[in-house]
Amino acid sequence: MSDEPRPVPSRRLFMTGSVLGLGSLVVAGRADAKDIPTGPTGRPQPQLEQEPPLPADKQLGWAVVGLGHYAQQYVLPALGRARRSKLTALVSGNADKARTVAARHGIKTANLYGYDTLGRLAQNREVDVVYIVTPNSSHAELTVKAFEAGKHVLCEKPMANSSAECQRMIDAAKAAGRKLMIAYRAHWEPHNVRAKEMRDAGELGKVWFASSDHHRPLDPSRPRDQWRVKKAIAGGGSLVDIGIYSLNGLQWLLGESPNAVSASMFSPPDDARFTEVENVFTAELVFPSGVRATISSGYTADKKRIDLWGDKLVATLDPATAYDGNRLTVSNAQKAEEVLTESSAEQFTGELDHFSQVIAEKGEVRTPGEMGLRDIRLIEALYRAASTRTWVELNADMTMKNG
Ligand code: NDP
Repeated sequence: MSDEPRPVPSRRLFMTGSVLGLGSLVVAGRADAKDIPTGPTGRPQPQLEQEPPLPADKQLGWAVVGLGHYAQQYVLPALGRARRSKLTALVSGNADKARTVAARHGIKTANLYGYDTLGRLAQNREVDVVYIVTPNSSHAELTVKAFEAGKHVLCEKPMANSSAECQRMIDAAKAAGRKLMIAYRAHWEPHNVRAKEMRDAGELGKVWFASSDHHRPLDPSRPRDQWRVKKAIAGGGSLVDIGIYSLNGLQWLLGESPNAVSASMFSPPDDARFTEVENVFTAELVFPSGVRATISSGYTADKKRIDLWGDKLVATLDPATAYDGNRLTVSNAQKAEEVLTESSAEQFTGELDHFSQVIAEKGEVRTPGEMGLRDIRLIEALYRAASTRTWVELNADMTMKNG
């Protein structure tokens, strides 16, 4: 212990205590009467589970492009809940709908744009980020336009319909000196994040095998499914639409990308929905470490599941990538237990605020354009494998070894 005498508390410290309403009795003899609170000082500041939003002038302004089902059902409400991000503009091909949505979300009509006037965002200082939520074939062109307007871009999955388009988007980001992120929301979903932590910490034991299945019914009576059956717009069938969750999720959870793939796809010949795109896609993935994985996707059942098969425990995300209600269980022959029960809603705000934060603080994007390009290259290899019925070998950047 130090022998030095303890410093005598200064009057200033005592004053601070009285101002906080903590020390009025202690200081009563020393302080002037005018320093002692005479009325009620209110309730103390409660412990908050969530941090409050930043002041509006510190939040980044977002323009949402394409006012379809996902944008209106999930993106716009999430922007209303976000801490670092706020909705400031809308881009739509339907002026009436845009005005209705703008009124609902408090957006002034001066901040409504059409696809042909998107370039005018360059003059709008209330917009920092453009979020592309349109059908897949338009992602590349709209992203390039947004970069030309000097904005940062969050683009929905799949990044684009070809690796060449993805490269164009990455090049445009570099030329503009702006950031590009792909909207892989599972990276902010608490159950997925916990599964990754468990696997990385060795809690599952050695994981030699993983499997992932992403299926959802396709109903062309819904507008959002009408473009999904058209190859020129969707880029492919269930693999690009939802199988991409298996591909991105497994590479993230396993921490590596495959070096060889085999695949097959199937569409019932008498089903008019699948004349251009596949219904069912299945594949086997071999990873450099020797780990194997299988994936399946389809447009019939409704299931979104990932299993990491460790020699101590199997981690099961089921559902893995739903909008809400995702679950993580671990099991073996002796036990099965739920690991955590948390709302999945945070995945949407987490994704938006991550991008606002890395823009404001010049940090690294967790799901950058390069990741989107990697996944589209892998999809191209999988279609090659399925159409040739051969194994396709891959370089580390997911380009095909045999061209
Ligand atoms: P919708 O069809 O519901 O919405 C797409 C919107 O894009 C339309 O409402 C329209 O908005 C605009 N649009 C522009 N050009 C076209 C066109 N040629 N045909 C149809 N719409 C057009 O689709 P989703 O909301 O389901 O999907 C949009 C994107 O979001 C896709 O890339 C999809 O993969 C992705 N998505 C991502 C999800 C996720 O969880 N991350 C979930 C669902 C979708 P307007 O009338 O305003 O111009």
